[in-house]
Amino acid sequence: MDVAELVDELTIICGADGVVSDAAARRTYESDGLLQYKVQPGAVVLPTTTEQVSRVVALCYRHEIPWVARGSGTGLSGGALPVSDGVLIVLSRMRRILEVDLVNQRVVLEPGVTNKEISLAVAPAHFYPPDPSSQIVCSIGGNIAENSGGLHCFKYGFTTNYVTGLEIVLPDGRVVELGGKEMDAPGYDLIGAFVGSEGTLGIATRITLRIVPLPQTVRTLIAYFEGVGPAGQTVSDIVADGALPGAIEMMDNAAIGACEEATHVGLPVDAGAALIVELDGPEAECEARFSGVVDICERNGATDVRVAADEAERELIWKARKAAFAAMGRLAPNYYVQDGVIPRTRLGEVLERIASLGREYDLVVANVFHAGDGNLHPLVCYDGSVPGEAKRAEECAGLILQACLDAGGSITGEHGVGIDKKRFMTGMFSDDDLAVFQRLRCSFDPEQRANPGKVMPTPRLCGEIPGPYRQHPLEAAGIAERV
Ligand SMILES: Cc1cc2nc3c(=O)[nH]c(=O)nc-3n(C[C@H](O)[C@H](O)[C@H](O)COP(=O)(O)OP(=O)(O)OC[C@H]3O[C@@H](n4cnc5c(N)ncnc54)[C@H](O)[C@@H]3O)c2cc1C
Repeated sequence: MDVAELVDELTIICGADGVVSDAAARRTYESDGLLQYKVQPGAVVLPTTTEQVSRVVALCYRHEIPWVARGSGTGLSGGALPVSDGVLIVLSRMRRILEVDLVNQRVVLEPGVTNKEISLAVAPAHFYPPDPSSQIVCSIGGNIAENSGGLHCFKYGFTTNYVTGLEIVLPDGRVVELGGKEMDAPGYDLIGAFVGSEGTLGIATRITLRIVPLPQTVRTLIAYFEGVGPAGQTVSDIVADGALPGAIEMMDNAAIGACEEATHVGLPVDAGAALIVELDGPEAECEARFSGVVDICERNGATDVRVAADEAERELIWKARKAAFAAMGRLAPNYYVQDGVIPRTRLGEVLERIASLGREYDLVVANVFHAGDGNLHPLVCYDGSVPGEAKRAEECAGLILQACLDAGGSITGEHGVGIDKKRFMTGMFSDDDLAVFQRLRCSFDPEQRANPGKVMPTPRLCGEIPGPYRQHPLEAAGIAERV
């Protein structure tokens, strides 16, 4: 059946204002934050309850129609890229905070609640630590699907460390509960499997999260260096000294220049690198550690160390850092953001390789990243209106990811695989590894209608054995074909 034929039934389920079928309006949803890919969805629905989500998915299941879940559409790997013959299920209208349980340090939410709203809902004594720079818009449902990180993950961990319960709609429309408010539910860790599954195992419709007390004190500094080499060494030395900063972030010269131009907070545009270090915790411990961090910066040749005197100054430092992606518009009309991970000790060497790739491809590559986690975000700047430049940028970004793999790292730290990086999966995982992923996926979604074509490098049929080509029984019966 064609997806257009489902529109009447979708309207019965979600109401007339909960379905977008008009071609012009559907274009709003043709990309996520990775604008290099565009696909117009067959139909878009905006459900407001779990029951509506379940009925939409069950309808798709009955009519063999694929679907893709979408939160706020800020993903950077094309995870929420629609399929043209399918339904895009947008969760952004499900944004109720259902319960704030400060005594037990839990919060229960619908998937469309933004990341920032969670910390606001539990303030002033608590907060929710994973904080992507997109936190004012990205949804907790999207954070769960991507296992999102952020500035504070070096100390506090990623989304997966905070989810204790999930209600999910399975790809056949059934609603199931995983976990609850307790920390470690017995049995297989299905929540662990779901977090980071990029919308391929079902749709999270209710989420229970752990929250933590706000630290007593926060001390923040920004130190400037002649280059990324000494700044990288400073990161290693701070960690080796036993400090566990709440955040430890780095920007190179190109990123500093763009951020200063965008925010005018007073960053020195001639600095080779800037390192932001934030310590948080009990006042006495912070005080004791902080002077040690300043000493380490100075020992590594910091040209200036500025300590935030108050909350206003601290906010200015973070304003500059959080504006980094948007500030790239100052360098070029378009950019391609990469998200690779490397062992922290190899920062200098990999950044040098990235710089040489930038020279080779004649493109500016700015670096702004979670230095503590070794999670690089090289931003390959280009002008899409110059013929061939987008292609060059994509190639350069691919080689940057390869450099991360060569250094013993990973193809993604927090942005997921999506459509963009699935071709790199074979560089990181063996055929056996991929077969195990596929079996897990098939146990949730045997027909593979949830976010098809994402994450796995080459789509396999469920039950297909990896290795040399063998005809699958469904192929033999003429029901499915390899593409
Ligand atoms: C300027 C900027 C800065 C960013 N900074 C960071 C950062 O610091 N750290 C970081 O980790 N990321 C960052 N991101 C990436 C992005 O914001 C995160 O990946 C975020 O979690 C995506 O949330 P979303 O609601 O926009 O999800 P979407 O983009 O809508 O979807 C992302 C994926 O989640 C799936 N999905 C969405 N909702 C659900 C659901 N309820 N159930 C199941 N699957 C679902 C989709 O199918 C898709 O695969 C940044 C993005 C931008 C644009």
